[in-house]
Amino acid sequence: MPAAPPKPKRTFVPADLDPAEFSQIEVLCRQLLDRPVETLQQLERWLLDWSELAAAVDEYGGRRYIEKSCHTDDPALEQAYLHFVEKIEPAYKPLQFQLQKKYLASPARQQLSERGPRYRMLERNWRADVEIFREENVPLETEATRIVNEYDKTMGAMVVNFRGREYTLQQLARFLEEPDRQTRQEAWEVSTDRRLADREKIEDLFDQLLPLRERIGRNAGMPDFRAFIWKAAKRFDYTPQDCLRFSDAIATTCVPLVRELDRRRRQDLGLPRLRPWDRDVDPRSRPPLRPFREDETDKFINGTKAIFERLSPQLAEEFESLRANGNLDLASRKGKQPGGYQYSLEESRQPFVFMNAAGVHRDVEVLLHEGGHAFHHLAAAATEPLVWLRSAPIEFCEVASMAMEALGCEHFDAFYPSGADAARGKRAYLEGVIRFFPWMAIIDSFQHWIYTHPGHTRDQRAAEWLRLMDKFFSDVDWTGYEAARESWWQRQLHLFHHPFYYVEYGIAQLGALQLWMKARHDPRRAIANYRSALALGGTRPLPELFAAAGVSFDFSEKTLRPLMDALQEELARLPA
Ligand SMILES: [Zn+2]
Repeated sequence: MPAAPPKPKRTFVPADLDPAEFSQIEVLCRQLLDRPVETLQQLERWLLDWSELAAAVDEYGGRRYIEKSCHTDDPALEQAYLHFVEKIEPAYKPLQFQLQKKYLASPARQQLSERGPRYRMLERNWRADVEIFREENVPLETEATRIVNEYDKTMGAMVVNFRGREYTLQQLARFLEEPDRQTRQEAWEVSTDRRLADREKIEDLFDQLLPLRERIGRNAGMPDFRAFIWKAAKRFDYTPQDCLRFSDAIATTCVPLVRELDRRRRQDLGLPRLRPWDRDVDPRSRPPLRPFREDETDKFINGTKAIFERLSPQLAEEFESLRANGNLDLASRKGKQPGGYQYSLEESRQPFVFMNAAGVHRDVEVLLHEGGHAFHHLAAAATEPLVWLRSAPIEFCEVASMAMEALGCEHFDAFYPSGADAARGKRAYLEGVIRFFPWMAIIDSFQHWIYTHPGHTRDQRAAEWLRLMDKFFSDVDWTGYEAARESWWQRQLHLFHHPFYYVEYGIAQLGALQLWMKARHDPRRAIANYRSALALGGTRPLPELFAAAGVSFDFSEKTLRPLMDALQEELARLPA
């Protein structure tokens, strides 16, 4: 078992810093603002000290977020988190902005940038930050965070009674895999009714968010919020038009494949039409795959570790360190925020993984995914002293995670003693990959429309949503459930949490699938490329990170079509 990480050594930040007291952060920021950064040496030391402070504050906020997401029903934890986002972050942001400006104004900055790509990345990112930063946006962003927090609470409180037992909606989802169609339909209806009960509330929250976001964009001098996000998200290497073209490529290459999968599913199930509750069940009506029981978290962790072990013993060892350091909270329980995430704790240089595992096959894929994020953080944080250069752009972060799903799908027998079940898991995963692209195109296109149509009505929004569902969604008969179809987007938390953050998954999936194809011919080399690209963290632009992983940064039909062909061939080889 690897040793626990050494306690972080601080040289600038006092050991007893309490980031809940803003004055303590402020004093340190003022010191940094007053310090001369005329020479190269001064500037380098200054960056390291600031990074130490940034890591300490970031980790404090991260731990508050983790705690409240593990216990959404604990008011004290919620309060501590809200104190951080409402009082500390808004006060700290303008000071960070001043520090960024001080860096950009330093006469030694040019010399640093000439030293190599690390500092050039820092400069490019910070120039964008400085360009769009507006003091008056800070309270607006705080308000947006408050609304999003309300959305989380609303979703986290959704508990239903199904056949005499209480379930979270995440727990209930497993009944959608039940061969008994009546059970599926009932579970789907119970879950859908529960969501619809809060439909108007969520619609209201979204309608509060949109004008806030528009104002944020306009305040920053941008024509619309999309242009603002492009800069804020540092999308330097592709345009909105590239994304819309990506969606078109998906419509021509993936949607016909999905419709074909639907046709076979309908045939296998012996149904005239697919209904919304027929999408997750095994088409041969076998009982759902159960990789572990809901209470078998150790089995879940051990099985996932075994998969990593087959990919690379080093990855398995790193995964084990998460368990050893208490950085896994995987079981689903009431009061826990839905979903799963990996959080990078910057000062201790540790990843934390959060999940709501319910004992379904998808849980294995999610943990492989979050494990990939954790490897990324460990690889980058091991060598990169500056916090701002550790995280790669999201489009590549998701290559780190999705590649673990893609490579891991070859080893599902770690959970299933029967080869047939492992093949079933792999088939479900590969089908999921194909089906994901059109869903991504819906969510992305929806946001392009939303943020370039300010002031739209709810009806117009619903009409656009339905248009996209018609264009991209699978062949499902929603008769009698029109309200559910119309508000289906509300479950997509990205629309609330991270506007426009979704196409990244599509771009990254292309990278992950390219790695999967390469690994079929040369697995060692694919893993070696993967690891070396991860270790670059955020020190290179996207096309270079993709190149380091041995894959190309391109999301046109040229890349998409051969990948879809390969997936189709692989599916044809697998037993049904
Ligand atoms: Zn991810």
